[in-house]
Amino acid sequence: MEYFLTEDQKTMQNLARRIAEERILPVRAELDEKEEFPWEIIKDLADSDMFRVFIPEQYDGLGGGCLDLCLVVEELSRACSAVAVSYAAVDLGIIPLLDYGTEEQKQKYLPDVAAGKRLAAFALTEPTAGSDASAIRTTAEKVAGGYVLNGTKQFITNGGEAEIYTVIALTDRTKGARGASALIVEKDTPGFSFGKKEKKMGIRASATRELIFQNCLVPEENIIAREGMGFIIAMKLFDKSRPGIGAQAIGVAQGALEAAVDYARERIQFGHPIISLQAVQHMLADMATQVEAARALVYAAARMVDSGARNVSEESAMAKVFASDVAMKVTTDAVQILGGAGYMRDYPAEKMMRDAKITQIYEGTNQVLRNVIALELRKRKGKRA
Ligand SMILES: Cc1cc2nc3c(=O)[nH]c(=O)nc-3n(C[C@H](O)[C@H](O)[C@H](O)COP(=O)(O)OP(=O)(O)OC[C@H]3O[C@@H](n4cnc5c(N)ncnc54)[C@H](O)[C@@H]3O)c2cc1C
Repeated sequence: MEYFLTEDQKTMQNLARRIAEERILPVRAELDEKEEFPWEIIKDLADSDMFRVFIPEQYDGLGGGCLDLCLVVEELSRACSAVAVSYAAVDLGIIPLLDYGTEEQKQKYLPDVAAGKRLAAFALTEPTAGSDASAIRTTAEKVAGGYVLNGTKQFITNGGEAEIYTVIALTDRTKGARGASALIVEKDTPGFSFGKKEKKMGIRASATRELIFQNCLVPEENIIAREGMGFIIAMKLFDKSRPGIGAQAIGVAQGALEAAVDYARERIQFGHPIISLQAVQHMLADMATQVEAARALVYAAARMVDSGARNVSEESAMAKVFASDVAMKVTTDAVQILGGAGYMRDYPAEKMMRDAKITQIYEGTNQVLRNVIALELRKRKGKRA
């Protein structure tokens, strides 16, 4: 399929593919086994200017957008989704700054992120607040000169590894979601510590940790936009970031498809490679078709984000839901095509199946995102916009 990428996008895509093949592929199984954060690869990505991709030129970035990020994430995820999400979570952490930050905040944080010197993260989820994000309990009490944070965030990607955290907390407990605000919290702020590192099914080389705030004083100038904007900032952020999860999903699905084709060409049963069996051919054909359909939807949604369209909730949710369901199906079918070998850790398919599952869960579960899509349909009474 021709996606009419620019020459710059193709160059960046090729560079990301080269890093994935030369640096990630040889170590992905070990990183997964040891559940080790991929610092060496993060350094390679920084040296190759990959963190500049999604940052505007005036802050030392390359001025790319959502599609550019998706192209890199897809290539990284084709080799290892854990690396891909560690990279993409940095974008998640700084989108609120990009969209709502002051010039001073941007100058202070973005050049370091662009250089890959400091990673970022975004923290909304809490033990009592997952899909129902309005149930957050972390508070940010206004005091002279700043805000005092108290509470615990759960399941935060890049937790403990990142230096810059965008945290959603209640500045007014009486107003529920309307009382939430977004604050930038630096790693070494007194009163900010990290809880346990989660032991996960997949994306095991990525870091997922609790953030604990105990009387943590954050300077007043670290509020993003103004008090009460936290929820709007978070929802707008997810509208922009969900195509990135779609890209993670198509990357892992593409990797699994390739692993299945390679294996089917080599595995001999009944005197012939199993790829000569029509049952296997049809599975592969369906897998390839699904991956391409998901890619087309993800790129289209990313382009819509980049167009500056006011409301991309529906398209962005569709891209994430469809691509992640495809990733789960395609990786499961890849394991099936590899047969018993597919179930073994010596082959990459089982890791891909474990890694694919999370794309149906985070940044809005697929059930919740189907609610989002249905809500948009109801609003316009089913007619196409
Ligand atoms: C590895 C990992 C990394 C993560 N990284 C981050 C991060 O960086 N930052 C961050 O803030 N969060 C992060 N999260 C949190 C993630 O976004 C939440 O786990 C997710 O939104 C689901 O919330 P929950 O786990 O509390 O599930 P719950 O909300 O408890 O959902 C449980 C089940 O109920 C269903 N359900 C709930 N409400 C509805 C509804 N209204 N309609 C239909 N079905 C419903 C869900 O679909 C799900 O099947 C991460 C999670 C994981 C596992």
